[in-house]
Amino acid sequence: MATQADAQELAALRALSASIGRSPHLTQAAGGNTSLKAGDTLWIKASGTWLKDALVDDIMVPVAMAPLLKAVEQRDRAADQPQGFTIAALNPRGLRPSIETTVHALMPQRVVLHVHCVDTISLAVQADGEAEVAKRLDGIEWAYVPYFRPGLPLARGIAEKLRPGVDVLILGNHGLVVAAETVAGAELLLRRIRSLLARPARATAAPDLDALAALAGDSGYRLPADVEAHAVALDPESRRMAQAGSLYPDHVIFLGQGSVVAKPGEAVADVVARLGTSPAAILFPGAGVLMRSDASAGADAMQRCLADVTARIDIAARLNYLTASENDELVNWDAEQYRQKLNAAGG
Ligand SMILES: [Zn+2]
Repeated sequence: MATQADAQELAALRALSASIGRSPHLTQAAGGNTSLKAGDTLWIKASGTWLKDALVDDIMVPVAMAPLLKAVEQRDRAADQPQGFTIAALNPRGLRPSIETTVHALMPQRVVLHVHCVDTISLAVQADGEAEVAKRLDGIEWAYVPYFRPGLPLARGIAEKLRPGVDVLILGNHGLVVAAETVAGAELLLRRIRSLLARPARATAAPDLDALAALAGDSGYRLPADVEAHAVALDPESRRMAQAGSLYPDHVIFLGQGSVVAKPGEAVADVVARLGTSPAAILFPGAGVLMRSDASAGADAMQRCLADVTARIDIAARLNYLTASENDELVNWDAEQYRQKLNAAGG
């Protein structure tokens, strides 16, 4: 840490990060990340850690920014492995920086917040998302970046869209980035953009817990951690959207491709027999959601996220889903396997 002012800003960023991490409408599980530039060093959230732990755990990793940016510019695949750019002397725990480190390095502002805001995602999965956002962000310096896999591809996509003055990015099928010179400024901008993009969620009935208990039988499937998660199985429109595929990367990482919906009359055992595998979550139309007994806390957070996102999507909108190859590259990606390993370990 170069100066006392930097140290104060880093402390402020940790407090803001913890607060962002506690809001399921802004971040879920190990998703989302925050950063501060201090001289040539980028302090960024460590991969696999949760923003909500920012005050109780040392989750910020120092990265040498200039060589990382050079790698992005040269399309060097080293940029896909930001751990190669950590400053070892300042990283005693040997943490890996976020797989989205390049997003932060590319923004020129000192403080960058990247969140998986459910209002933003609900717009950013619509085929008309860019036009819908444009109506809401009039007067803001923002840019729309279509979907790319996080890492070098997303960094290249952002580099193409960045122009001087831009401090808000809407990432297609992904989320929101805001940037400012101070932590306080970034917090204000995040609040402003959130309120401009806010959308009401469709109301749903309560889950049928007795029916779910009967459907689970002795399968070991359990209720989701959050009661809000059931909405995606209860609302027919949300269910239709979920069943049609994967809408954003962390869904694939934590829950697998798309969503499994039980057919009429099927209990958990029937679904598992039909698929030949036990999905992390099963949607039972009209009843609610059941999670596999060993589903991680991250899986629970993402199942709730799916309910929160789909409930906000315009039911008349055409949606952009991740393609088969985009799904595959997420599942088979080394950096994500590392993050999942930390997640499974409870990180
Ligand atoms: Zn992200």
